[in-house]
Amino acid sequence: WFLFVERPEDAAMAGARRALYLNLVVYVLILVLALLAAGFTVNRFQSRLERTASYDPLTGAMNRLAFQAVADHAIRETRREGRPLSVILFDIDHFKAINDTRGHQVGDIVLTSLAQLLAGGLREIDIFGRWGGEEFLCILPNTQIPEAVTCAERLRLRLEDAQLVAAHPELAVTASFGVGTCQPEESLDALIQRVDTLLYQAKNAGRNCVKG
Ligand code: GH3
Ligand code: MG
Ligand code: MG
Repeated sequence: WFLFVERPEDAAMAGARRALYLNLVVYVLILVLALLAAGFTVNRFQSRLERTASYDPLTGAMNRLAFQAVADHAIRETRREGRPLSVILFDIDHFKAINDTRGHQVGDIVLTSLAQLLAGGLREIDIFGRWGGEEFLCILPNTQIPEAVTCAERLRLRLEDAQLVAAHPELAVTASFGVGTCQPEESLDALIQRVDTLLYQAKNAGRNCVKG
């Protein structure tokens, strides 16, 4: 013998079910909001990390690591398309003396203003970066050596004529430049080594000049 009892759902049960559904909806909403907030925070943190990893915090210029990657890519691209690419390496003259006589803070302002001034003198497609200390590098895609030398000369004059530190209007800052065009099969390292030698020649020739 089996006994089956059938009963309609009573009002108390319906209320409990409604509360359960409401709780579920609220829970899902909170979960979605929490996930959105977490995604937003992670994205912001990641872009800040990427910026810190790629740009020099003092001057805002691209740092050496990021510059190398971007320059390598530019070399491969222009080589594949059979176009020229040139490099300008420059180093501030007697920068140590600026630090020693006016203080490290003034030296920092010089670096920051100089980077802003000279990066602003380049084209959109050119790549500008801080190579180290008071040395900066520019990659000029689609540029042969004569135009690159002219560009370096323009940067040199721009710097020579500039007043970089408002509190020291008499402070004159100059730099020496080495310029080279990438040869077929030449690596970025080899090219930079070559322009570094030219920069050294510019220093030996009395500074504030361009060697290409
Ligand atoms: P040269 O004309 O031969 O290039 O002489 P220089 O004095 O410019 O070169 P040197 O290599 O003797 O000195 C470079 C100085 O740059 C020494 C170092 O303390 C300074 N320097 C490097 N990075 C920074 C920086 O971020 N801020 C400041 N204020 N100084 C820096
Ligand atoms: Mg120097
Ligand atoms: Mg140097």
